[in-house]
Amino acid sequence: MALRRFRADLHIHTCLSPCGELSMYPRAVVEGARAAGLDIIAVTDHNSAENAAAVAEAAGGTGLAVLPGLELATEEEAHILGLFEAGTDLGPLLAVVYARLPDIPAKRSFVKDQVIVDAEDGVTGFNPHCLIGATTMTVYEAVDLIHGHGGLAVASHVDRGAFSVISQLGFIPPDLRLDAVEVSPLLSYEAGRAAFGPLRPAGGPRAALPLVRFSDAHRPEEIGRAAMDFFIDRPSLKEIRKALAGRDGREVRPS
Ligand SMILES: [Zn+2]
Ligand SMILES: [Zn+2]
Repeated sequence: MALRRFRADLHIHTCLSPCGELSMYPRAVVEGARAAGLDIIAVTDHNSAENAAAVAEAAGGTGLAVLPGLELATEEEAHILGLFEAGTDLGPLLAVVYARLPDIPAKRSFVKDQVIVDAEDGVTGFNPHCLIGATTMTVYEAVDLIHGHGGLAVASHVDRGAFSVISQLGFIPPDLRLDAVEVSPLLSYEAGRAAFGPLRPAGGPRAALPLVRFSDAHRPEEIGRAAMDFFIDRPSLKEIRKALAGRDGREVRPS
């Protein structure tokens, strides 16, 4: 079995995110990812995943693997990434998320356009939900929802002073069944590991949580500014899951 190195940035927003630049159209995301030497990306908009398929289609024939995902905002205002296998139908998951967002229409007067696009960067609609809001899901419910749809749950940017599990709760609950913990590009991987790793709950049954570092790109030039090298067989979520768990010889290292 020959494992290959796949450079991955699994936290990238598009023009659908209220805070993502409008320039984050599918083709720009794909071009940015290729320019950054990435092999795998995940599209992780706030509380939505409606542009992931268009980015995957735009990447067709380029060799870039695109995983669908999203970044859930919990009722504690903590961000949790959900990463899924390519081709997963996230419609049922999004129905749950939208039902638990505040019932405020995304009026253009105070929220930036939440643009839904096709693979050719054509605008096909605007998401009407308040994606910038927090859901009424707890961190536990968010992790369960992600796992219930076959995904990996990653605590976002735990080094940031806001919107992370640590900033909001003060710690990572030992019984929160995360698959990994992410630090932002504000920190080097080594500094992240010194500050947040190994995240092994004292006396808990869990092994240390793997630490990853991704870009959280909201602009094309930010894509790939933080990435991980996965030593895996093929660019699938199943292989990434094995690498995070250190199974079957798969590994993940800072890129
Ligand atoms: Zn976030
Ligand atoms: Zn983000």
